Amino acid sequence: MAKNVIVVGGGIIGLCCAYYLQKEGHQVTIIDKSKMDSGASFVNAGYLVPSHFIPLSAPGMINQGIRYMFNSTSPFYIKPRWDSDFLKWAWFFKKSCTAAKVERAIPVIRDLNLFSKQLFETIKASGDLGNFHLEKKGLLMVYQTKKYEELEGKNAERARELGLEVTQLSAEALKEIEPKRALNALGAYHYLCDAQTTPPEFMKAMTNYLSEVRVQIRQQEGVVELQHNGDKIQGVTTDKNAYTADEVVLAMGSWSSGFTKKLGWNLPMQAGKGYGINLRDTTGITMPALLCEAKIAVSPMRGFTRFAGTMEFSGINHHIRRERVAAIAQGVAKYYPGLSIPEEAINTAQYGLRPVSPDGLPYIGRYSKIKNLVVATGHAMMGWSLGPATGKLISEVVSDKKLSLETSSFHPERKF
Ligand SMILES: Cc1cc2nc3c(=O)[nH]c(=O)nc-3n(C[C@H](O)[C@H](O)[C@H](O)COP(=O)(O)OP(=O)(O)OC[C@H]3O[C@@H](n4cnc5c(N)ncnc54)[C@H](O)[C@@H]3O)c2cc1C
Repeated sequence: MAKNVIVVGGGIIGLCCAYYLQKEGHQVTIIDKSKMDSGASFVNAGYLVPSHFIPLSAPGMINQGIRYMFNSTSPFYIKPRWDSDFLKWAWFFKKSCTAAKVERAIPVIRDLNLFSKQLFETIKASGDLGNFHLEKKGLLMVYQTKKYEELEGKNAERARELGLEVTQLSAEALKEIEPKRALNALGAYHYLCDAQTTPPEFMKAMTNYLSEVRVQIRQQEGVVELQHNGDKIQGVTTDKNAYTADEVVLAMGSWSSGFTKKLGWNLPMQAGKGYGINLRDTTGITMPALLCEAKIAVSPMRGFTRFAGTMEFSGINHHIRRERVAAIAQGVAKYYPGLSIPEEAINTAQYGLRPVSPDGLPYIGRYSKIKNLVVATGHAMMGWSLGPATGKLISEVVSDKKLSLETSSFHPERKF
């Protein structure tokens, strides 16, 4: 049965939900408070990452986080604060940092990532979005030290056990694979399972396609209230209009938990800020790379190279910490000798807020207390990769269809 569905949030998750909901024959409206041209879904590194099967909440993260807290240029930062939501989230994060929980999450994350990558390929083959950038060169985990060769070596071994294709490259082999830009490194692990896209291009192509197939897109319209009567939402009120809906999909990224609070539901989530610097000059970089020690993502995109990094838990704010952006530029120069990112590029760096759940798994599914409210958020560092899989699963939930994947691990009301 065709339904009237409102998707709140027009980031990658909201757009992908709308894409698959429309394909199922529903009437879809996307409402976003922004112009839909900035934020996490535009500033990310564009990697499709089956390689990232270990969640952020892994053993050792708490100690490392505490060490990083005292370094203003570190790639990971938690602003200490007496905020009950943050403290609750931190407690759940700590509880998730056990080997047993991580082991349970690993195959689930892998499967969702592989499914999503396959859907990116299907979207490309459909021609719906034209010839968007999707390059399957894999991802290099580049290391400069023996310590990281060993650390990453263990991850690579685990990846192979999980059926992912990974090879180790020596410094010589790196020269061959990246001939036009020298790398100062001991070597790299090459995850051939990963792929690269150009987010602003994809977001534009997806928005254009959705408009063509008559998905209503309401930009610069903030949702202020979901009107519900007991266990059912009847309408969505924005700062400009009022809508009726059979189903509502909450895909508001980092803003989702602030919103669920209005419904009396505390959805544990924190915003993890990251920065991206774009360089339009020719860099000679052709291989997507993660610089392991510095924790910087290097992404050769269509028309520019992007350098991205940092995970800063300081709440929802728009403050760009210049010292952290500068640290990304300095880190890049240590790996690519002679590559200097100019001040101008540093000064125009953009930021995005990753919606981070405590256990590193997204929230995908229905809220039990309001039966026509579906949640699609909390994707943290993998939201770009997981957009299509999330959209597909949400369309199946709304259409009461058999799900493509088992989703109990993503239940929005799970216990931590
Ligand atoms: C630097 C950086 C690098 C990254 N690299 C990668 C990567 O390589 N691969 C990967 O998989 N992931 C990556 N990520 C993570 C990924 O970008 C995010 O997980 C993903 O973009 C989240 O998408 P979203 O749609 O949930 O949220 P968002 O993109 O934040 O979208 C949420 C939308 O909701 C709207 N909204 C909020 N409140 C309201 C309201 N009241 N009414 C209406 N609309 C509202 C906002 O305006 C926004 O447009 C990276 C992130 C960062 C910051």
